[in-house]
Amino acid sequence: MGQAFDIAVFEGDGIGPEIIAPTRSILSDLAARSGAYAMTFRSYPAGAAHYAQTGEAFPEASFQAAKAAHAILLSAMGLPSVRYPDGTEISPQIDLRIALDLYAGVRPVRIAPGGPTPLKLTTGQDLDFVLIRESTEGLFYTKGAGEVTQDDARETLRITRATTEKLTRFAIDLARRRKTRGQGPGRVTSVDKANVFRAFAFFRQIFDDEMAKAPDLMADHAYVDATALWMVQKPWIFDVMVTENMFGDILSDLGAGLMGGLGMAPSADIGDDHAVFQPCHGSAPDIAGQGIANPFAMILSGAMMLEWLGDKHGVPQMEADAAALQAAVDHVVREGHALTGDLGGKAGTAEAAQAVSNALNVLA
Ligand code: NAD
Repeated sequence: MGQAFDIAVFEGDGIGPEIIAPTRSILSDLAARSGAYAMTFRSYPAGAAHYAQTGEAFPEASFQAAKAAHAILLSAMGLPSVRYPDGTEISPQIDLRIALDLYAGVRPVRIAPGGPTPLKLTTGQDLDFVLIRESTEGLFYTKGAGEVTQDDARETLRITRATTEKLTRFAIDLARRRKTRGQGPGRVTSVDKANVFRAFAFFRQIFDDEMAKAPDLMADHAYVDATALWMVQKPWIFDVMVTENMFGDILSDLGAGLMGGLGMAPSADIGDDHAVFQPCHGSAPDIAGQGIANPFAMILSGAMMLEWLGDKHGVPQMEADAAALQAAVDHVVREGHALTGDLGGKAGTAEAAQAVSNALNVLA
């Protein structure tokens, strides 16, 4: 049977339960087939609908269960119609990042040859870079606690040495692994605004100091505004990028746009001891309950979870299964017969997910 892993599941709001159900089933099938590891999925309450019913957004028991699990699989939380009395939305997924110190928000931007993209790539050209969004401080530092008076509103941006060092070391590790696999040239780019703000000059200096300890890699810098331009004009120049929380929030949606939309964009929020895997998109209330949501970002987030668990616990089969799952999604997208509406197809969530299962039967 191999190693056993407890996975805490948050089905979330809106399309959340619709995309997480097929993802669980694909991951369970992979584990059962390999026999090299086992996963037990347990769902816990949290989110906007739960808050509307009970007055509690994130029960302590759910948080403790998430903390005790080997990994956390989360769909999307929040509904624009459900808010705290101060007008802000219910967002336990952001609270989890802070509570579990998940400082590295990993946002891969990957377009397989022939994959959906508004970019004009040459035939057979692919795109593969990773944006790492710091996820515990930056401009989100005062989230929910900004000062607002009749005439003035303030939020605080905070950058700390400890987190920036850890973030850069995380990026260094990822760039090395990508270089070893032939996925990238070993370049890490600090995306900042060091020309205008002292906080970003501080961020860049710490980045440079850490990069100086990694002479096998190239240290690079880019201002965030130019980065937005280059992500559209020549995104292939990037390998691993690190950036502040709000810059990363915005650029990761730009990255999702390059991959054909939010329905294709997976993510992971990783700390030293815990990690949450969830799609970049939200709960999509406009299409909830119709069975038409794209499940690929959720499934690819599941693949990221397999890769992280396999690496952390020394189970190479999980890393192999992660690669097979990625390849299966690439195959379905390339074939183009089972795509959801956001990708220009007519398939529902179940049909698109079934196509991934079928492709896995051939590829895994
Ligand atoms: P959203 O990502 O939910 O939706 C934006 C657009 O993308 C919508 O038109 C939606 O239909 C479409 N879309 C998103 N995911 C899709 C998918 N898998 N398949 C097909 N189409 C998809 O963003 P929003 O509308 O700004 O937010 C809705 C709610 O989600 C809000 O309450 C917001 O706070 C919350 N939210 C949660 C997270 C999270 O849990 N990580 C992230 C972003 C937004």
